[in-house]
Amino acid sequence: MADLQTDIRYIKGIGETRAKALGKLGINTLRDLISYFPRTYEDRTLTRPIKELIVGEYACVKAMIAAEPTAHRISGGRMIVKVRAVDESGVLDIAFFNQDYRRSQLHTGETYIFYGKVEGNLIRRQMTNPILEREGQQQLTGRIMPIYPLTAGVSQLILSRAVRQGLDACRELLTDVLPDDVRRDHELCYVNYAYENIHFPDGPESLDVARRRLVFEELFLLSCGLTRLRSRRKDVAGPACQAVDLAPFYAQLPFTLTGAQRRALEDAAADMAGDRPMNRLCQGDVGSGKTMVAAGCIWFAAQSGWQSALMAPTEILARQHFEGLSPLFAKFGLTCALLTGSTKAKERREILSGLASGAIDVCIGTHALLTEDVQYHRLGLVITDEQHRFGVNQRSALGQKAEHPHMLVLSATPIPRTLALVIYGDLDVSIINELPPGRQKVDTYAVGESYRPRINAFLRKQVAEGHQVFIVCPLVGDADTIPDERKAVTAYAEKLKTEVFPDLRIAVLHGKMKPKEKDSVMSTFAAGESDILVSTTVVEVGVDVPNANTMVVENAERFGLSQLHQLRGRVGRGSAKSYCILLSDNDSEETKRRLKVMTQTNDGFKISEEDLKLRGPGDFFGQRQHGLPSLKVADLSCDMRLLDEAQSAAKALMAADPDLSAPEHRALRQRIEELFALHAEGLN
Ligand code: ADP
Ligand code: MG
Repeated sequence: MADLQTDIRYIKGIGETRAKALGKLGINTLRDLISYFPRTYEDRTLTRPIKELIVGEYACVKAMIAAEPTAHRISGGRMIVKVRAVDESGVLDIAFFNQDYRRSQLHTGETYIFYGKVEGNLIRRQMTNPILEREGQQQLTGRIMPIYPLTAGVSQLILSRAVRQGLDACRELLTDVLPDDVRRDHELCYVNYAYENIHFPDGPESLDVARRRLVFEELFLLSCGLTRLRSRRKDVAGPACQAVDLAPFYAQLPFTLTGAQRRALEDAAADMAGDRPMNRLCQGDVGSGKTMVAAGCIWFAAQSGWQSALMAPTEILARQHFEGLSPLFAKFGLTCALLTGSTKAKERREILSGLASGAIDVCIGTHALLTEDVQYHRLGLVITDEQHRFGVNQRSALGQKAEHPHMLVLSATPIPRTLALVIYGDLDVSIINELPPGRQKVDTYAVGESYRPRINAFLRKQVAEGHQVFIVCPLVGDADTIPDERKAVTAYAEKLKTEVFPDLRIAVLHGKMKPKEKDSVMSTFAAGESDILVSTTVVEVGVDVPNANTMVVENAERFGLSQLHQLRGRVGRGSAKSYCILLSDNDSEETKRRLKVMTQTNDGFKISEEDLKLRGPGDFFGQRQHGLPSLKVADLSCDMRLLDEAQSAAKALMAADPDLSAPEHRALRQRIEELFALHAEGLN
């Protein structure tokens, strides 16, 4: 057997047909096979006397066939085979559907181990379609069984046999990518033991030991690989910027930047004045003033003659940035253009020529900035706002408009630093952990349907005092049908208009509207010409309406905490006392706990940590193609401690041997190159 890249069809006992079926699961090589980890496990180590079986639970039973099986045809042409088995404590009735062969397989007087879900009642116990084998066989029972994710044509048995063969085939081939001292320092088991026991654990402890080692390895490889990516990027030169003083920029601002804003801007300026391209993530809670950091960077790059592009995820946001920033840039003699999907052809032509000639210094826009015919004269800085909406690929597409432009990513999804490393991988991180002065905390209440009349009265009062209200509308639907956004919001707004607030001005906003319509609804609302804006989560991102002071979220349990926090960030932007009301009639403990977190803190970082604890990282990863090797064993919601450990081990190792050229690091280097080769494109 040559190596782990060997095609599985050459592995003893697998062959063409099996290999093809396994291919559907993405298992092609020996490495794929042994890295196809169980989804869960079933403990079939202990057998129980029939009398002690608990209805509803899975269990193993050792029992003797008491009488020859009988077969009947039942409705639908199905065949049922029934057989009675006994042990010293009682009787177990077993039924097999469409397994006619069981009749000739099971013989009176012989003993088998059955594994299945116990049905029936206290007097009569039954199993339907149990797994079974002869006593002493120990293949399907008598051990902790791996349960793999399957596909058509591949059963658990086929898979576990294939994995068994795979493990046997590579016993001599598995080299440990973890250096000995790392393995020892972190008390990790040998690689062979880990693979053996993640599939076929001797017991619960060995499974833990195996899993811990593989999780560590995975996170360690990821960390080392990211460090390498980062250092490789540092081998190219970025657009050279002079280290000019930021004071003239500060002097033109209508307010003093917060310390955190200044630090983030200074970090970025130092990056840009260095001899490598900047690749920085600026994370800050909603309302922390990231836009000014972006503006400062643009100004800084312009001092050295570089053009900048600022990309926002929606047209509304792009326009808001444009309207907010172009007067500021004008003070510095910088020309600014807005380019979106709805820019008219003629204007668009003018903008394109201005960008190509260098007459335009700053271009603000949406995805439209990515179109191929947009060419820049001297693009030096690319900023993407609200990063979680863009994939790595889009980010890099914009980057491709120049040789190696400086990149700044603004994100309003505060995530714990460790997780940022995994999600944003190759970026340096600045955190804005301070809000501009005078911001007040948004009073938040989590209440049930019974409060509805009081809430309606409250909203009425706010509007009467001249404020405005956001209502984020429920998207009700079954878990597996995608609800029609337009219908849901429109119907809901209609109900409010006719039944609840006939005298108020109610506007509607949803994602299915044309950008133009959305814009006009938003600007009407921003101008104070409607009282209540009913919408889906499209208001989540960045929109600034300081006069809106109340946010109501219907069916709040359907949202992640981070998302609720984003929504809440739409209010509390003006001087008026602000409120957020989370409505939910769901009284599961988890919902209660989550919503309570919202009422207790306004700190986005704390909230995201809670979110991670309660819901796992799926939310963060969910909408993003992050372009990094995917994690197979590590679960970031519970493996944070191990992530810390793996990161610091990786950091120490990479500092001591940045090229991984030491002989004892050869296996590690090879593995990282394999893992990251596939993904490198997306990350550069
Ligand atoms: P976000 O980080 O959510 O993008 P913005 O950049 O939109 O936040 O800023 C939110 C609001 O705060 C804007 O109206 C902006 O003008 C204002 N702002 C930003 N920085 C400061 C500051 N240092 N002092 C006072 N107001 C500020
Ligand atoms: Mg913003």
